[in-house]
Amino acid sequence: MEARDIKETRFLLGTIVEFTVYTDDESRALKAIAEAAQVMRDVEQAFTIFGVHDNSVKQFNRAKVGQVVVLQDEVDALLRLSLMIHQQTQGAFDPALGTLNQLWGFSGEIMPTQPPSQQHIQQALAKSGSRHVDSQGRGWVKQVQGLQLDFGAIAKGYAIDQGVKVLKKHGFHQAIINAGGDMMVLGTHGDKPWRIAIRHPRADQPLGWVEIDQDSSIVTSGDYERFYMYKGRRYHHILDPQTGKPSSASQSVTVIAANATLADAWSTALFVLGSKQGIDIVQKRKAMAALWVKADGSFRQTQGIELHHAPVTMRTN
Ligand code: ADP
Ligand code: MG
Repeated sequence: MEARDIKETRFLLGTIVEFTVYTDDESRALKAIAEAAQVMRDVEQAFTIFGVHDNSVKQFNRAKVGQVVVLQDEVDALLRLSLMIHQQTQGAFDPALGTLNQLWGFSGEIMPTQPPSQQHIQQALAKSGSRHVDSQGRGWVKQVQGLQLDFGAIAKGYAIDQGVKVLKKHGFHQAIINAGGDMMVLGTHGDKPWRIAIRHPRADQPLGWVEIDQDSSIVTSGDYERFYMYKGRRYHHILDPQTGKPSSASQSVTVIAANATLADAWSTALFVLGSKQGIDIVQKRKAMAALWVKADGSFRQTQGIELHHAPVTMRTN
């Protein structure tokens, strides 16, 4: 049989995850996808701060000041990486904003209708931030009561990477895992590059397409994903750790990186940093590229992202 796209979707990580495997062996591909989906569900369970399932993140979040909590190995590792990215992004990415995120309420079932008061923001800010988290022995302690971890800006990328490992283990090297627009692309699409649409933060048609012909991740963070309008202003789920409020530096940021963990974390961080601060930081990093749609709607980008526009190069893949 000729190779073609085998596609499956699952509801995972609070979003629709689409698996595409380019292969001539459908039954093996379906088996690999099922296993990848299960591994991604396990990651979700290890990191989620929602629902009834208990995990080490929730244990830490419940703990009192000074109480040492040993995190599950992969949570521990991702916290260490997150703290490193916190340093590298001048604090723009922060895995300890749980209390502030909850105050804003973008992850709840019901979208809020108005922003919290400045006083409540200040109170939540005092209980937020990586500077209040310390490692102690094999575990972690918080220095302020109420501090909570929230891996919402990196766990989806990490889950994608774990799913991709499973596909590779099964011998598939031409594939995509797309979790609500955050994706990891493997290899090529047959003998052509994969063509990936990038969402426009304000319009229905894509901003453009990029071609990818080697393993890499492409992730977009935008102010259009979870938001509401109040008195003519947009309030959304990417918070500036300095102000405690939704960042107004960008409309969206697309990052291309070697893996989805990095692309996810950095797209959030670079959104907050904005292009002016972010561009130099990205330019210094190997194997990373970024494209901003700035607050005023104009574009700015580093080397390494070439946008194609549909009318000239439209193809079906
Ligand atoms: P999405 O989940 O829509 O793909 P992001 O990857 O940008 O978007 O993650 C946003 C989520 O990350 C928020 O819902 C919140 O849980 C958390 N978050 C918000 N601001 C920050 C920040 N500055 N640093 C780290 N995590 C953040
Ligand atoms: Mg992110």
